[in-house]
Amino acid sequence: MPSPAEPTGVTCPECGKPLLKRQGRYGPFVSCSGYPGCKYRPPKSAAAEKVGAT
Ligand SMILES: [Zn+2]
Repeated sequence: MPSPAEPTGVTCPECGKPLLKRQGRYGPFVSCSGYPGCKYRPPKSAAAEKVGAT
């Protein structure tokens, strides 16, 4: 079963690909869909908290 990844509606400022909210061992986090090619990560998990509010 692949790990679930939800679109955040936020675009990566470095490569222009959408950022995805993923479920990690320590909870949800946001990473670039271009990973591992792009290693951009938001400073905090603020974006992850905004998702789900919609
Ligand atoms: Zn990126």
